[in-house]
Amino acid sequence: MDNIVSELEESGVNTIIEYDNDFVTENIRILSVDADAVVLDWDLYNAESMIDNIRMSDSDIGIFLMADPDSLSDIPVNVVSNVDEFLWVLGDTPSFMAGRIAASCRRYRKTILPPMFKSLVEFSEDYEYSWHTPGHTAGAAFLKNSTGRLFYDFFGEQLFRSDLSISVGEVGSLLDHSGPIGAAEKYASKVFGSDFTMFVTNGTSTSNRVVHMALTPPGGVEVVDRNCHKSIEHSLTMSHAIPVYMVPSRNGYGIMGPIPPEGMTPGAIEKSISESPFLDVKKGIKPTLAVVTNSTYDGICYNAEHAEYLLSKSVDNIHFDEAWYAYARFNPLYEGRFAMRDVKESDATVFSTQSTHKLLAALSQASMVHVRNGKKPIEKSIFNETFMMHASTSPQYAIIASLDVSSKMMDSSGYNLTQDSIDEAIRFRQMMARIGSQKKNDWWFGVWQPEYVTVPGTHERCRFEDAPAEMLGTESSCWILSKYDSWHGFENIEDNWAMLDPIKVTVLTPGIDAHGNYSDFGIPAAMVVSYLDEKGIVNEKSGDYNILFLFSMGVANGKWGTLVSELCEFKRLFDSDEKVSEVLPKIYATDPKRYEDVTLKQLASEMHRFMKERKQTNVANMASSMLPEQKMTPADAYRELITGNVEHVKVSEAENRIAATGIVPYPPGVPVLMPGEFTGRKNEPILMYLRTLQDFDKKFPGFEHDSHGIEVIDGEYYMYCVKE
Ligand SMILES: *Cc1c(COP(=O)(O)O)cnc(C)c1O
Repeated sequence: MDNIVSELEESGVNTIIEYDNDFVTENIRILSVDADAVVLDWDLYNAESMIDNIRMSDSDIGIFLMADPDSLSDIPVNVVSNVDEFLWVLGDTPSFMAGRIAASCRRYRKTILPPMFKSLVEFSEDYEYSWHTPGHTAGAAFLKNSTGRLFYDFFGEQLFRSDLSISVGEVGSLLDHSGPIGAAEKYASKVFGSDFTMFVTNGTSTSNRVVHMALTPPGGVEVVDRNCHKSIEHSLTMSHAIPVYMVPSRNGYGIMGPIPPEGMTPGAIEKSISESPFLDVKKGIKPTLAVVTNSTYDGICYNAEHAEYLLSKSVDNIHFDEAWYAYARFNPLYEGRFAMRDVKESDATVFSTQSTHKLLAALSQASMVHVRNGKKPIEKSIFNETFMMHASTSPQYAIIASLDVSSKMMDSSGYNLTQDSIDEAIRFRQMMARIGSQKKNDWWFGVWQPEYVTVPGTHERCRFEDAPAEMLGTESSCWILSKYDSWHGFENIEDNWAMLDPIKVTVLTPGIDAHGNYSDFGIPAAMVVSYLDEKGIVNEKSGDYNILFLFSMGVANGKWGTLVSELCEFKRLFDSDEKVSEVLPKIYATDPKRYEDVTLKQLASEMHRFMKERKQTNVANMASSMLPEQKMTPADAYRELITGNVEHVKVSEAENRIAATGIVPYPPGVPVLMPGEFTGRKNEPILMYLRTLQDFDKKFPGFEHDSHGIEVIDGEYYMYCVKE
């Protein structure tokens, strides 16, 4: 071996690291990420499992096995197929073996670069003089000023050298889908399972607008999940579409569930079309598309296969907004529950829009549109007209490169990357369940998950925390919402319709149960969120009594340990009734007089009492599960808004008015009013809910809600209504 090492050094492989057996066994997957080739001795007692491990996490890396020719026949076939080359230590010369390894390293370096990133790297190595935009020319302009110099130093030379304009032909063009950029999109299409894929550098907000604008002409009808992102509202407005809605269920915690399958049937869709004030059914109306948010913000994934079957009876195009769900294809746990499945023949044309930046590894705004054609395929060049309408002629190349790299990462290690975050989430979930059952009455944080799971193929039930972690990590049946279970709080849910995604973990605080019954004691989630924020732990979103944590691919091993400790610490501080000024200094600073001498217990009890008396969660549920009367289409309401035919109205006085903009309270970020909808009477759920939020905000400074479409002036909520 020593001879090979010195030969390798001579052939230009600069860092050779030798590890001892135990260390390598523990860390092989991490080590192989840093390596360009791995050389293993077959005599190691666990060489076989190490080879498996390396191959699972990296399909391209060269694996060299040092073995004696006599032992070849003893080596199992799967090992032989995972190994690239065998080194016969006594058979070849050290320099020949070193040469083979060095060549493999060079090849590996080339193969791991996906098409567009590769050409970007090559281009930036060329050091051309540029006479085109961007005008900073590889960063040079920044160096002429001291502020600019700090900016340049902060990000480093490479960012600027690779920030190119579309006039650099070598890297291709995003608008034409040509050259290396086009090759990268084709590669992504193969990896993500589409007929064609386009890269979008302005987020899924833009991807959604592209899909809707490409399919719906003015006056076209769209079947829309009411649990939709703001960008869908914008699409409806821009395309002058007429929406009819599918309404998802909500449970007692206020967690958004799925649209029930009955809501996707032709009968239900025809009924909502017949009830639309803008449509004359006699004309025989066929909607242009249906859009479904998959998974929901709280991690409910649909049985996409069945949803597609149901919706295909009414529409030719189905759009799954999978902004939070780009990883699903890479792990068998999600089988059948995402849009880009390998389907022999599909009825509808299916679109998936994914925020690659949200849960895969990519820069912010990196997004993809994937298209799987059905019986009425969409012409790529026609779709591209809409794509270009929403694109910049100067896209950010680093974002495009990150989309390319993300595809490659999922291609070579998608299974491992996803399984790691699933396993990590399960460790946290089981730990929380264990604490809950050990501490019983002396603990109050729960997790929204099953209490019992059934061992597949048996009738054996075991407690969630006692279930084998491997079973939880691989058996989707453990995560399916069943009508025979009550933990999830959705009544009459159809079996196998919805699954909870293990990586989206909702922690529950005390105060309300799955069916919306308040208890006497409660700790609103907002207090726990503020505490965690003080400790530098930032969650994804929170509800009245629940907090969502995402176990994305970037979650470091064991990071959740700190979260558990902080939850324990919060409990200790709460039990010893510390002061708000001590524990939540940022909250205290928003209004020291208000919080002077207030303790955690006092604040929790005051806040919980308010929320219970006003039935905040129940009212929110009512507001978002009813459909307000539609008075104008979103586009018509928008016309009123920009032509000045609107007025700013106090929410407390906004009864029986037409909303000129959408109103979207966060969380959960789902519209209670779409533009053009009727606010209803004063004591109907929508206005009651908005007033509850307003009164809460006045009473608890530092804990204010954020609602799109609402402006707060001196504590009063205002909204734009169409003039009467
Ligand atoms: C975040 C989100 C979007 C928008 O994605 P961006 O990449 O932030 O523009 C669209 N739809 C859903 C469901 C989202 O959660």
